[in-house]
Amino acid sequence: MSVCNKYDVLILGSGIAGLSLANYLIDKQRLKSENRKLKVLVVSKGEVNETNTAWAQGGVAAAVDTNDSIERHVNDTLAAGSYANDTDVTQKIISQAPEAIRDLIGWGVQFDKKSNGDFDLGLEGGHDHPRILHHQDITGAAIQHAIQEYFTKAGGEISNHTAAIDILKTADGFWVTLFDLSRHKTIRIFLRPPGHGHRWYRSAFYKNYQYPIFNRRWYLFVASAGSSHKGISDGSIPPNRIVCGRKFILPHFRSPQGCGC
Ligand SMILES: Cc1cc2nc3c(=O)[nH]c(=O)nc-3n(C[C@H](O)[C@H](O)[C@H](O)COP(=O)(O)OP(=O)(O)OC[C@H]3O[C@@H](n4cnc5c(N)ncnc54)[C@H](O)[C@@H]3O)c2cc1C
Repeated sequence: MSVCNKYDVLILGSGIAGLSLANYLIDKQRLKSENRKLKVLVVSKGEVNETNTAWAQGGVAAAVDTNDSIERHVNDTLAAGSYANDTDVTQKIISQAPEAIRDLIGWGVQFDKKSNGDFDLGLEGGHDHPRILHHQDITGAAIQHAIQEYFTKAGGEISNHTAAIDILKTADGFWVTLFDLSRHKTIRIFLRPPGHGHRWYRSAFYKNYQYPIFNRRWYLFVASAGSSHKGISDGSIPPNRIVCGRKFILPHFRSPQGCGC
């Protein structure tokens, strides 16, 4: 990766979270037929396909069968979690699962089907109905391959062996520090806040805009940026800017001054 390249969006992580977000961005742009092509960079601290996603074997649970329902899937999940689960989060994730499956299929993921064309759904412990979509027993590898290919074919760039190590909030934006693990070099990048009216900002989150799910990792990341959850939710940093743990998105970054570009 050239330090001097300019991008509009930086996504940390090349697993299903990061690349899904990248692909949603691409889809949204296509939908709007925007003239200006958004430059998206995904960074991965290892090889692009060295992810948990690529290792996942069993498959993905979603209530896609006509005899199944979101309610049954939610009930099974709550029971399996001894009702210690956050009901709201469980409900939200499960109700979005069938649509997420359709998105994955749209990006080229092939889930196994029976001879009649229906999905070959597996039954897993804790479920009262078969609802595991799979690709043989290498579902994660199939997903990783497809979403990666969709992203790169659309012109997205991936930087391997690049670890995000720090983020610093300043008065006019964010400094993100990346470390190039191959060349042992530190790369500092400045991200300019897009502003509330920025059209890409909403585009990036059009899928999960309504359901930002925050977790500890997200809080830590934001805290290291010198902000707080309150600061984020009251509009100083919009809540859907950095979401869902590893789904970090840092819009519109440019290289630091003085790098010669
Ligand atoms: C062996 C195994 C089997 C599994 N089986 C299943 C299953 O059958 N069904 C199921 O639903 N789930 C399964 N899971 C869980 C599932 O794989 C994960 O929940 C899911 O893949 C997480 O996706 P992700 O994109 O959030 O993270 P990952 O796929 O792990 O991607 C994380 C990305 O972030 C990058 N990254 C991390 N830190 C940094 C940093 N500081 N700087 C730059 N990049 C960074 C990594 O390099 C990587 O690209 C399994 C997991 C494993 C390990």
